[in-house]
Amino acid sequence: MTSITSVRRSVDDAAELLQLPDEIRAVLEISKREMTVQVPIPRDDGSLLVASGYRVQHNRARGPFKGGVRFHPDVDIDETRELARLMTWKTALVDVPFGGAKGGIQIDPGQLSRGELERLTRRFTEMLSPVIGVFDDIPAPDIGTDPQVMTWMMDEYSNLDRYSPAVVTGKPEGLGGAAGRDSATGRGGVDVLEAHLAAEYRTIDGLRIAVQGFGNVGSWLAVEAQRRGAVVVAVSDIEGGVHDPTGLELDSLVRAVAAGGSVVDTGLERLTNNELLTIDCDVVVPAALGDVLSASNAPDVKASIVVEAANSPTTEDADRIFAERGITVIPDILANAGGVTGSYFEWTQNIQQFTWPRDRFDKELEVRLGSAYEATRTLAVEKAIDLRLAAYCIGIGRVAAAIQLRGHG
Ligand code: NAD
Repeated sequence: MTSITSVRRSVDDAAELLQLPDEIRAVLEISKREMTVQVPIPRDDGSLLVASGYRVQHNRARGPFKGGVRFHPDVDIDETRELARLMTWKTALVDVPFGGAKGGIQIDPGQLSRGELERLTRRFTEMLSPVIGVFDDIPAPDIGTDPQVMTWMMDEYSNLDRYSPAVVTGKPEGLGGAAGRDSATGRGGVDVLEAHLAAEYRTIDGLRIAVQGFGNVGSWLAVEAQRRGAVVVAVSDIEGGVHDPTGLELDSLVRAVAAGGSVVDTGLERLTNNELLTIDCDVVVPAALGDVLSASNAPDVKASIVVEAANSPTTEDADRIFAERGITVIPDILANAGGVTGSYFEWTQNIQQFTWPRDRFDKELEVRLGSAYEATRTLAVEKAIDLRLAAYCIGIGRVAAAIQLRGHG
């Protein structure tokens, strides 16, 4: 059973609990628009590359569509559709004025030259240009895309329309990127974890954390958690992981990855990605791909808290096992909502042509995520449900209310 079923199940359970009418459930079920394109580009050797690209716009009852763009070989319409739905509930949960969307290209960006990647990104943007826009749909980075890819998207769109920095978020600072957006998803994960610990009269000090995925989200999360007093005992990337029970020195790992290498290039004690998830620690953070916590490894997880920094990392079976074992799961739509919250700050700054200092960005992020955690926990306690269902109820309830007021999604 995949986490796609798990997302559906959570939506059904939330709709049931909220007693939503059938017509509202039907609107929540269907995407507003789904686009599949073939993106052709000339390769450096003169041959033709044709890749499949997608943009799914799920719901815009609460504001323009918003969601990342993923470049990965596993991207397809089903995954994109489910991730777009997650975005709808996530934007509503943190109460930013957006709907939900997702996009991507089925490609391994590591196999492309820089020129090929730029041509692919620009062609894809041109194909999406009729449906994206500052007040229509605002893409952002996700797996395999970064501030450079966002810059090409912004530039291509601006060439077709007019200078439009607010058409994408996650841009570099100095070109409309907001100070703080690069670290916002990882930092937000730590903000939510600290809010959870505080509610349980605990602190992050000395907490042993293992992080799977050392890209944008995982690396910032690890660095920020360590800065606040946690001990990061293991991290990994696609090549595998490294481990030190006394705490890793993260600077050299960040440098290795920034230089285009892997965390395993650092000569530290190694472990596999699956071993990382079941290592002796207090908090495990999946921050890479979906479905990594399943029935096969959930019984062996030793952490007492799972922070879902990745989208959909826990299958429905694993979720049930964690509930039986008393392991708390901080769900993706809350744990990684720092990304879209930071994107909202970037978008507003672009529209106003007014930049915030970094400390304002970080503070507002903490306040918004703290409120979202508080609301989620309060509902979970009141209804005796888990944090995931509580988060879905809040998100879906707000979207349903907007649909009822506007008469459409
Ligand atoms: P990224 O491309 O920057 O990093 C991905 C990391 O995962 C890399 O370290 C990569 O080596 C590793 N990885 C890839 N395949 C792996 C595998 N099979 N096993 C183990 N590790 C693997 O991506 P990111 O932006 O950090 O996104 C990570 C997750 O966070 C995704 O699920 C994404 O949807 C989610 N997310 C990202 C953002 C954001 O702002 N970037 C916001 C919300 C959620």
